[in-house]
Amino acid sequence: MRDRRPASRSVRVLVATAAATLVAAAAVAVVIGALVVDGPDAVVVAAAQLAILIPAVAVAVTLLAMVRNRLRDQVDEPVAELRQVAAAVLDGDLTARTGRAGPTDVDALAEELDAAVGSVQVHIRRLRQHAEWGAQSRMIFEALDLADDESGAHDVARQALAIVDPERPVELLLAPHGSTELTVVATNPNQPAPGCPVDEVSGCIAIRRAQPVVFDSSESINACPKMRGRPYGPCSGACVPVSVAGRPIGVLHTVAADRHPPGERLVGQLATLATQLGNRLGALRALESSRLEAATDKLTGLPNRRLLESQLASLIERSTPFVLVLADLDNFKHLNDTYGHEIGDRALQLFAQVLRDKVRGNDVIARLGGEEFVLVYPNMSVTTSIEAVERVRDGLTQTLAVSAVPEFTCSFGITHSSVGRDSESILRVADAGLLRAKELGRDQVVYADETLAARMFGEGDDRRR
Ligand code: GH3
Ligand code: MG
Ligand code: MG
Repeated sequence: MRDRRPASRSVRVLVATAAATLVAAAAVAVVIGALVVDGPDAVVVAAAQLAILIPAVAVAVTLLAMVRNRLRDQVDEPVAELRQVAAAVLDGDLTARTGRAGPTDVDALAEELDAAVGSVQVHIRRLRQHAEWGAQSRMIFEALDLADDESGAHDVARQALAIVDPERPVELLLAPHGSTELTVVATNPNQPAPGCPVDEVSGCIAIRRAQPVVFDSSESINACPKMRGRPYGPCSGACVPVSVAGRPIGVLHTVAADRHPPGERLVGQLATLATQLGNRLGALRALESSRLEAATDKLTGLPNRRLLESQLASLIERSTPFVLVLADLDNFKHLNDTYGHEIGDRALQLFAQVLRDKVRGNDVIARLGGEEFVLVYPNMSVTTSIEAVERVRDGLTQTLAVSAVPEFTCSFGITHSSVGRDSESILRVADAGLLRAKELGRDQVVYADETLAARMFGEGDDRRR
């Protein structure tokens, strides 16, 4: 409760003064009456009494009029104003204010009403923003759920950063699956990127602390060193880690004016977004891992037949010409029988590594099964691909020379995608080349076309493939 204001006291003083004036005048008149009770003339007494009482009454009336005016100015009008504001607020106008400031109790009440309405307005604005963000964050969740792969999730992140705050520079730095190297994968498209130079997961303080961090000024002694020396000068900033099943994989980073750091609300929104991104990226990465596992040969780590077939199908679908090479290790059964299965496995791994070392760009390698491998050279001539296969043979010889694996050789059948309409028929022609290479004594490369295939397998013979 506030103290009583002086103005209401002055009203009481005025009333008391009027009352005292009347009482004093009446008393003086009575005294005069008593003194002259034995006097000469009752008319004189009455006149004297009136002469005193009339001005006294006039003074009292004037004082009471002043009281009434004061009450009108200080109570009636402000109270009417208060009622108007209260009615406007009840009608939903939260901008209505009395704007009064003054010394009276009513002024104090008006100030309190203004403050209360202001506070309600702030709360309602926050509630509205909260509800709005709730709807937006549901939309972001749904959009992320619709993203089929990481680049789709990055696109959603880009749009989400603009939704969180169109005016704010924000960026998402992520380490790709299986890596700890951070790169910017999304920024608010309406703003320049904040430009955090961090390039390693371990170099980010928010990631190390596994919680959001806010820096008041890049110039403070305890600010993240990565915030210093930005081209746009000193700044404040906030960083929110993105995690997959508790393992940090990236960070959302934003900046603001120096010593005016991003507020709690924005940091909270970025934290919600970081959780959504982490959940979706985790699911996508798990899916990708199991896809990769299903498409990878366990012994050599090369793509398996299943993946090869889908890659060939996609090349054929896009009408991309390619050279297909079928490779088969020579006398591998003998190697197994002589040195044991384990050495045989190591030989297969060594050959896979040679292939990995020798392929480039869009070339495809795969283990077809057993001791058979496939190389695919998109957009390459047969002549050039024979040279590439010769490099594989040289690579095998050189690697074997410095390894503990016993020496072995490999035969190759080569053909061009133009020999067949599907992967099966192309593989069949390459197989004819391989068979011919074995016939010719192994450890060599043989080019095959439909004619050779017909000769090796006979018309209509779909042997092997
Ligand atoms: P060729 O020169 O005519 O190709 O003779 P080869 O002995 O290489 O061919 P064959 O088909 O007779 O034998 C293939 C051998 O490859 C038989 C099998 O034991 C071996 N093999 C297949 N898969 C694996 C594997 O995963 N590990 C090991 N160690 N050996 C394997
Ligand atoms: Mg074989
Ligand atoms: Mg073999």
